[in-house]
Amino acid sequence: MIDPAYSPQAASGIWVFLEQDGNVLAPVSLELLGKARELSRQSGAELTGLLAGHNLDELAGRAASLDLDRVVYVSHPLLERFTAEAYAHATAEVILQQRPDIFLLGATPYGRDLAGRLAVMLRTGLTADCTDLALDPESGLLLGEVSGFGGGILATIKCEQHRPQMATVRPGVFAEVQSQRDTAAPVEKVEADVPASACPVAVVSRRQHAGVDVSRAERLVIAGAGVRGDMGTVEALARALDAEIGATRVAVDEGWAGREQQIGQTGVIARPKLAVVCGASGATQFTVGIEQAGLVIALNQDPEASIFEQADLCVVDDLFPVVRALVAEFESHNGGAK
Ligand SMILES: Cc1cc2nc3c(=O)[nH]c(=O)nc-3n(C[C@H](O)[C@H](O)[C@H](O)COP(=O)(O)OP(=O)(O)OC[C@H]3O[C@@H](n4cnc5c(N)ncnc54)[C@H](O)[C@@H]3O)c2cc1C
Repeated sequence: MIDPAYSPQAASGIWVFLEQDGNVLAPVSLELLGKARELSRQSGAELTGLLAGHNLDELAGRAASLDLDRVVYVSHPLLERFTAEAYAHATAEVILQQRPDIFLLGATPYGRDLAGRLAVMLRTGLTADCTDLALDPESGLLLGEVSGFGGGILATIKCEQHRPQMATVRPGVFAEVQSQRDTAAPVEKVEADVPASACPVAVVSRRQHAGVDVSRAERLVIAGAGVRGDMGTVEALARALDAEIGATRVAVDEGWAGREQQIGQTGVIARPKLAVVCGASGATQFTVGIEQAGLVIALNQDPEASIFEQADLCVVDDLFPVVRALVAEFESHNGGAK
């Protein structure tokens, strides 16, 4: 039995969990690699990508061309489909053997599930849903920035005593790693020992998620409570602009849009080139999700709405006639709706 805890002195290296689904790496893993490379340059630490699954040799090879120093590929038939139990068992084993100093995961449904379970198994801390990561210039400790109390405060959290220092970051917070290696990084394949008892749940089938990834949309039309459920109007504008549809939490809670479309603190951080925000008041918990947008156009009938503080173009009017006029204008230029 390996001791489920190791000391800071015994730890080294920055690891990123390379989340994959169906042989495709999750974009958030590429985003984390970009940030992790920045941190590894500062500290001189080795950057490792941890891939877990089954029959993923080809993907491990592709991962090895990313900007990292090596890939650890943990393989076992029980890792073919994600279950938190099996993944936690296999990744905890390799973490305890190789003792990374920092371990980063995407705050996706899988990443969140795995991170919480791992932190308990490894007896370490977890800073969840970070909005930024940095290294303390003096101690070299990982600093995770998180917002709390509905976005009212920003706290910086560090984990001094336990290892690895773990953090999750939501998709869209960092830019994707762009650089690639000229020669592939080494891949270390680890045959995990996952007893069937570690995996009481088996995934026998899974429905493919058909939703849109609004964190990666180039153009967004965002529905707020002001659209009053008239998603047809929002969809018409989105079609005219070739945009995806995002939503505030109120619009999601009302059932007008899916949970995966929610923009903001408890939703997705988007970085579109264009965001047209229809009938949203501009609560900070929402606007944090469009801070990195290029051009923001806000439509709101209340001239005092705080969304206008975020907007580059402010339209103070009833959104419905304005959107209808815009759609008609686009259609007349494009020779009809798409
Ligand atoms: C911990 C926490 C986390 C949260 N996370 C999120 C999050 O991730 N995302 C999020 O969105 N919210 C989040 N919220 C909720 C957030 O505080 C706001 O309640 C929410 O963003 C408001 O949504 P809204 O702007 O659509 O609705 P409202 O605040 O009700 O605003 C509706 C706006 O529409 C305008 N309007 C109405 N009719 C028209 C019309 N015909 N034409 C033009 N304008 C019109 C009104 O003037 C008003 O400004 C969170 C809150 C908490 C406490």
